[in-house]
Amino acid sequence: MKRTLFIIFNLVICISVLIGCKATQTSSEIAFDFEKKIVILNNGIEMPILGLGTYLLSPEQTENSVYNALATGVRLIDTANAYMNERAVGRGVKKSGVPREDIFIITKLWVSSYDYAAEEIDETLARLDMDYIDLLLLHQPYGNYLEAWKAMENAVSEGKVRSIGLSNFYEEKFSEIIDIAAITPAVLQVESNPFFHQTEMREFLKPYGTVLNAWFPLGGRGNTQPLFSNEIITEIAEAHEKTSAQVILRWHLQAGNIAIPGSSNPNHIRENFDIFGFELTEEEMQSIKTLDRGHGVLEYTDEVGELFLSWTFDFNDQE
Ligand code: NAD
Repeated sequence: MKRTLFIIFNLVICISVLIGCKATQTSSEIAFDFEKKIVILNNGIEMPILGLGTYLLSPEQTENSVYNALATGVRLIDTANAYMNERAVGRGVKKSGVPREDIFIITKLWVSSYDYAAEEIDETLARLDMDYIDLLLLHQPYGNYLEAWKAMENAVSEGKVRSIGLSNFYEEKFSEIIDIAAITPAVLQVESNPFFHQTEMREFLKPYGTVLNAWFPLGGRGNTQPLFSNEIITEIAEAHEKTSAQVILRWHLQAGNIAIPGSSNPNHIRENFDIFGFELTEEEMQSIKTLDRGHGVLEYTDEVGELFLSWTFDFNDQE
């Protein structure tokens, strides 16, 4: 009898441990909240899962697009030092009347300022005309990125930045940051769309709880047509009475990508945010899987690094 009780006791302990492990694993899974349209990052901070990108938008277009996006309900705006439109982002935010704390701003340090990242963070705040940045990324994995990461960690402790992350850092470079990091990157921004799923990258990120944020979510400016007119995408769009852009953006969210489509067209901005009233079936997700080509537009080579390092800007020389 004693022996039976002992075995049952041990079984209960084993099952509890197993359940405990599973809970730990589950808690590191990244779950998008489609009701609130947010994800909780690995630092506990809420981030909207759908936003507006501003690459290649002029200051005037940026100000108007940010204003229109915020009026539509978008709460995530992506900019960068190198886009030369951070002042315009700040103006769009002010003009919208939406409280600052309800808006999530991403910006990025360019490689040429990694050597003096602390100063550039202050300059960035001044250009945005804001007290803090929600998410600051290292834009490219070249130059003095390890020092710049440390400067970003300091900025978090000083309250100037709430979350930090990386952009275009693939496995090797991401691991270099992990080796020296006191703060685990909250977000990795890389190219992704139905032609480039980034499945392996998302698997790689899982142990860190780092969320993938897709750039070129619609294929990129001037390159959207191959995706928009793809037969699989158009058939799914027809079935849901949605546009190709909406199907692609919905795919991003269901795949676990935060998406930041770029646009200066108020109708497109509205359309892009109207993707919470339908859902792609498992079968539709599977058929989009067949479009994956496994690569994007840019390979991150040393030559690209040299080119990027040669690009220096006066970021303050913007309207
Ligand atoms: P995108 O894939 O978002 O495509 C933008 C193009 O799609 C524009 O030409 C726009 O007019 C068009 N478009 C948008 N909505 C549409 C709609 N509903 N119907 C028809 N056309 C529509 O490309 P992007 O803007 O270059 O990328 C998104 C954002 O990602 C950028 O704005 C930028 O913020 C960010 N980005 C980051 C990096 C990086 O290195 N971290 C690189 C590129 C872009």
